[in-house]
Amino acid sequence: MPSALRDLYPGLVCDLDGVVYRGADAVPYAVEELSAVASASPGGVVYATNNASRPPEQVAEQLRSLGLSVNGEHVVNSSVAGAQVLAGRLAAGASVLAVGGMGVADALRGAGLSPVSPPEAAASSRSVDAVLQGYGPDVRASDLAEVAYAVQSGAVWVVTNADRTLPTDRGIAPGNGSLVGAVRVAVDVDPEVVGKPGPLMYELAAERLGTDPAHTLGIGDRLETDIAGAHAAGMDALLVFTGVHGVADVVAADPHLRPRYVAGDLRALGEPYDEPAADGPGWRVGDLLGVLESSAQPAVRFRGRESGAELGQDGLRIALRVLWSAVDDGRISTQAAVSATSRWQ
Ligand SMILES: [Mg+2]
Repeated sequence: MPSALRDLYPGLVCDLDGVVYRGADAVPYAVEELSAVASASPGGVVYATNNASRPPEQVAEQLRSLGLSVNGEHVVNSSVAGAQVLAGRLAAGASVLAVGGMGVADALRGAGLSPVSPPEAAASSRSVDAVLQGYGPDVRASDLAEVAYAVQSGAVWVVTNADRTLPTDRGIAPGNGSLVGAVRVAVDVDPEVVGKPGPLMYELAAERLGTDPAHTLGIGDRLETDIAGAHAAGMDALLVFTGVHGVADVVAADPHLRPRYVAGDLRALGEPYDEPAADGPGWRVGDLLGVLESSAQPAVRFRGRESGAELGQDGLRIALRVLWSAVDDGRISTQAAVSATSRWQ
């Protein structure tokens, strides 16, 4: 019996929104599958999120309410990772301007640093060694001014994430990247970004797991954050179609954003994953071979199994390899590749 996908990786770094939960509800199969990993793998699972507005213990509480056995140590957010990065570079107790929600100051304290709020910095005109800037709904222009002053005085400027937008139920709001952008335009200095798609949060997660990134699997629902971040840290990645990105996005993805594994949902962790292998002009899983049919309307033609219904996930995984290679060597356009996957969309 071939190994299940989860048995190939002693540790997993898992995104939350769109993978484990959507709003208040658990994503189907996520809790069962992740519980099975946590009890079977030596490293287990660490959850990593760019959303720094809630402290890890609060996120862990939500995960426990869904049925997962986790504590705050199993959750890494971008303010915790940012504070950890600064603690590695600054002396213990160094003062750091904390901009954003409560999570930022908490994370700095937890890392042995001294948070300074923007009003405190303004009142004392005391210089800070660094700035940690995260999102907060109450961040004001005067807070951004303190960031600008600190950066101009030579403070290290670290930001939790560069997400430009924040989807809300009333539309798109400016995210942390937009607020950071306002300062950046003023001071003409680039900050260091901790969250996805950078590698730092994934590296910190691997440290917590005690696993080598090369033997750690990143799981997510977004190509340009989860998959890019896992790859930047040297991890393989699994994209599940339970969140933001679907088949059309994956087939159209740039080569560095293509995940090694794709699956409809997290049940894939408990199953063997047959990776397609190159076979002559096509790609094969077992007896199923897919090749590109280059007519006016490019399509993937399958041989070896009878009906379309039986192609299942193997068919999609083969089709992605066939179409990615055809796009890469210029035989078809990205648009044609997307149309050729319409049966899975
Ligand atoms: Mg997500």
